[in-house]
Amino acid sequence: MAEKYFKYVILGGGVSAGYAVREFVNQGVKPGELAIISKESVAPYERPALSKAYFFPQGPARLPGFHVCAGTGGDILLPEWYSAKGISLILSTEIVKADLASKTLTSANGDMFKYQILIIATGSTATKLTDHGVPGADAKNIFYLRDIEEAETLAKAIKAENRKVVIVGGGYIGLELSAVMKINNLDVTMVYPGPWCMPRLFTAELASFYEGYYASKGVQIIKGTAAAGFNSDTNGDVKEVKLKNERVLEADIVVVGVGGRPLTTLFKGQLEEDKGGFKTDAFFKTSVPEVYAVGDVASFPMKLYNDTRRVEHVDHAHKSAEQAVKGIFASEQGKLIDEYDYLPYFYSRAFDLSWQFYGDNVGEAVLFGDNNPASENPKFGSYWIKDGKVMGVFLENGSAAENKAIAKVARLQPAVDSLDLLATDALNFACNI
Ligand SMILES: Cc1cc2nc3c(=O)[nH]c(=O)nc-3n(C[C@H](O)[C@H](O)[C@H](O)COP(=O)(O)OP(=O)(O)OC[C@H]3O[C@@H](n4cnc5c(N)ncnc54)[C@H](O)[C@@H]3O)c2cc1C
Repeated sequence: MAEKYFKYVILGGGVSAGYAVREFVNQGVKPGELAIISKESVAPYERPALSKAYFFPQGPARLPGFHVCAGTGGDILLPEWYSAKGISLILSTEIVKADLASKTLTSANGDMFKYQILIIATGSTATKLTDHGVPGADAKNIFYLRDIEEAETLAKAIKAENRKVVIVGGGYIGLELSAVMKINNLDVTMVYPGPWCMPRLFTAELASFYEGYYASKGVQIIKGTAAAGFNSDTNGDVKEVKLKNERVLEADIVVVGVGGRPLTTLFKGQLEEDKGGFKTDAFFKTSVPEVYAVGDVASFPMKLYNDTRRVEHVDHAHKSAEQAVKGIFASEQGKLIDEYDYLPYFYSRAFDLSWQFYGDNVGEAVLFGDNNPASENPKFGSYWIKDGKVMGVFLENGSAAENKAIAKVARLQPAVDSLDLLATDALNFACNI
């Protein structure tokens, strides 16, 4: 069994790992000092592509085209870039044991990795229906989507003719995948338990647009119920989805997107936790010296709202990784950097739609614009107002300038005198701040 030492180790090879490496290079890391250890078989890539362009029937996104930092318009870090910089990219290697006291990580095949500074970037795993004991959920052709191998298996499965697809879940993954499955001319039904899709962010009015739009594209939507079990044929291939409301749907392919869970188990009992992740300070230092946590697994101080949050979105994955690495180099040089001051930013793209959201969706929601799914050029959004101040803004179909303006509004939280005026003159309000 091999034993290797690196000054810096990033555990995980996803979005934040990729952006962390770029920052290490910007900060002048020396050849041989840095390693990424990832159970994936490819260099870090932009995970959001997996539920969008990866499934386009024409010109689908494929590696190396969406390695980081393609998502932010930066240079694409190809596998050979890492070796040219003297960075060890240790792929297909799952760490199964972590001992922070002896600064040792052990892989599934017994290799040991020692480090001085560790960045934990293990991300999340998809919630499985089998974990919840849903009968028949281990049938073949029931898919989850977290990594490129799963995306590739699903891409192959949808190649066969006349496939009936049932999407379980009405969140990001459900909405984006239903759209790309429909673009591939498949028969698509979405099932979700809530009264409308994406209830954690969408108001009923926002959701009614997307549900109407999806219906107009031929996606069937069944709300207020969930998958209670699956029937399969003698080959073990899924054939039916049994719903809690007793309905039974035919299915050749099922894709489940019912949420995720941060991957923290390796460090149980070794690090302080909060909100399901590792508690960090504003520089992503955990409760153990020289151990950092970034991306989905970090529970960090959200300065803007004076509380602690865990955020499962790429923008935070990029920015937390960069902040951690800047902080590491600053402390080595005895310098100080600013605290992390994050403005939540989420986005999604499906069909020819595209929305952005900034801030916090708390308080009273004020709808603006044209949210009629039958309109030729629908453009609408919502403000969230609390204690007379704007807390969050959502905008569908915004221009680059308008999206920039709503980000500024969410950051500055201006006072609002009249909700009616906000509803009728929404974008001027944002653009004039
Ligand atoms: C299909 C999909 C679409 C998405 N779309 C959007 C979007 O449109 N907008 C948005 O804001 N966010 C989106 N997200 C969320 C976003 O991708 C994540 O928030 C982001 O990837 C988090 O980055 P991370 O580095 O923390 O984790 P990840 O990118 O998940 O990387 C974690 C890495 O750690 C590795 N790992 C874990 N455990 C071990 C171990 N024990 N040993 C070795 N390696 C390990 C994993 O294999 C993986 O390489 C999407 C996520 C998915 C799955």
